[in-house]
Amino acid sequence: MKYICFVSLAILSLVINARVAFAHSEQELSHIIEINSSTISTIQQAITSQHWRLMTAKDRQIIDDKTVWLKLTLPVSTSAADQQAILINNPLLDHITVYQVQQGKVTQTVKLGDNIPFSARPIASTNFIVPFYRDDQIQTFYLQVSSSGNLNLPIHVVNLKQLSERLELQALIDGLQLGGLIIISIFTVLIAILSRSKSYIYYSCYVFTITLLAASLNGYAFRFLWPQLPQVQQLIMPVLIPVILALALMFTEQVLRLKNDSIKLSKTCKGLTFTMILIGIMSQFISYTHALFTNMFMAIIVAITMTFIATVQGAKQHKMAKLFAIAWGCLLVGTCWSGALYTGIANSQMQPQMPIMIGLTFEILIMGFILAVRFNDERQQKQQMQQDALHQAEQIKIAKDEALYLKNISHDRLERMVHERTIKLEKTLKELSIANTKLVELSTSDALTGVNNRVSFDETLLYQSKLSRRYQASLALLILDIDEFKQVNDTHGHLAGDEVLIQLARNIAKHLKRPSDHLSRFGGEEFVIILPNTDTDGALSVAEKIRQAIEHLSIPWQEHKLNITVSIGVSVAIIQDTCQPHKLLDQADKALYRAKRLGRNQVCLYSPAIETQ
Ligand code: GH3
Ligand code: MG
Ligand code: MG
Repeated sequence: MKYICFVSLAILSLVINARVAFAHSEQELSHIIEINSSTISTIQQAITSQHWRLMTAKDRQIIDDKTVWLKLTLPVSTSAADQQAILINNPLLDHITVYQVQQGKVTQTVKLGDNIPFSARPIASTNFIVPFYRDDQIQTFYLQVSSSGNLNLPIHVVNLKQLSERLELQALIDGLQLGGLIIISIFTVLIAILSRSKSYIYYSCYVFTITLLAASLNGYAFRFLWPQLPQVQQLIMPVLIPVILALALMFTEQVLRLKNDSIKLSKTCKGLTFTMILIGIMSQFISYTHALFTNMFMAIIVAITMTFIATVQGAKQHKMAKLFAIAWGCLLVGTCWSGALYTGIANSQMQPQMPIMIGLTFEILIMGFILAVRFNDERQQKQQMQQDALHQAEQIKIAKDEALYLKNISHDRLERMVHERTIKLEKTLKELSIANTKLVELSTSDALTGVNNRVSFDETLLYQSKLSRRYQASLALLILDIDEFKQVNDTHGHLAGDEVLIQLARNIAKHLKRPSDHLSRFGGEEFVIILPNTDTDGALSVAEKIRQAIEHLSIPWQEHKLNITVSIGVSVAIIQDTCQPHKLLDQADKALYRAKRLGRNQVCLYSPAIETQ
């Protein structure tokens, strides 16, 4: 972007310089210009006046509120008669009245100037043109010119061919100059809108106002923007110059960041800005000449101050301050040069506003370059910041990935540990369950014979009694006692007795077919059998089968065969109340004693009758 800015501004500067050179380049038709400095108010007085003298270069640089009379004498033309024109190349002149006089008589009067509407001009051009027909007579023109401010009078007499060439070339050059400025204006306005940076806003306003100033100086603003309002043409110049300077001051203050570096310099800059705005307002109430002088004076003051500030900042190693010093220096030189031309200190064919315009152009050029550098710096900073942010984001991602990796590892480890612990726990629970089962078995079984013990018997009798009561089913109870068991112990020892008990239990169990049948050791050599859902016949049958099986049982012990018999008491009932289970046991016991009493090795059923026998 900075290169585009640089190139476009360089072109602009060349165009302005070309315009200056152009003013001197053409061959003009020979004519004599005389000036009359005595007080004349009418054309008749001018015709009869004797105070004419040749106009010098110094006379062209008059800056005052005054009226001058000029006399333009064209000698007898040697060439063929043709259309010619007087061209006054200063679009800022207020009033021009051109009198064509032949033989002491006014033959044509034309009124021109930027104080009358544009449409009143005989030829629509930003320059003042008076066409006339050149014949073989000596032709004299009297020009009454009055203007506040610069009375720069570049008067030329040209034929139509020269006129059209000159106007075309001038239009081209002016078009390039204004076009360049307008492009830069639009370009900077767009950048200002997009970047929303104060510096760009000031700079775009600055370029825009300079464009307006150039258009006003060339007469295009009057021609195209306010052709019916000549009073605007008188107001615009004294306002534009202070505004331009104020904007340049604000821009410099912003870009050099004076607020941060030095409050004193910042305040000076702001003070000057305020003064310029005040002068812009005040210039509407003072004469044009005074306003122009004040503006030029202030422009020099501002340019000196700003060159000084920029140099001071440049010495502090501020990157752009040196360029600013050059920019303001250019404006200073241009302003001083213009001032010298206006006041007649310097003498040149150049239009006096031209140096200030060249100075402003260079200032635009350098300021644009500064802005481009700053824009580039900011862009690089932004890129750097983006890269840093990207780097940080990458670091964060790496850290996150690492955290995730560690989390996964610990999660896996944790899962493995939990799994191992679960297996251990399950194993322990299994062992516990086995131990519990064993404990239950131990607590409910008899250690010697392995059948149920007394505790289990009590629980089962209670449970089966409830079922018998609920379903009104008969419940049978068998009590079995080994006959003369004491003798076995006494004869073969207690170990033989124990072996008999083990074999006996095993044989009884073989004869209990139903899963609900329940065998338990009741105590010593007594066993008890619960037969649920079994009536008297069934119970007697089971008892008898057991008795017979034991009778035929031969238990090997050492070199002996041990034979035993058993007596069995049977009781059968349908349980009706909660006391009946105990009664049933008592009845079975009584039946057992009855069997013992009757001679042992037999089965006896309880009946109430046996209680009395
Ligand atoms: P009967 O019942 O026919 O009247 O005579 P019995 O000899 O069996 O008499 P009793 O019921 O009074 O005797 C019980 C005997 O049983 C006493 C004891 O020697 C024996 N006995 C009881 N419990 C055990 C035991 O756990 N092991 C062994 N070896 N003997 C036991
Ligand atoms: Mg006994
Ligand atoms: Mg016994």
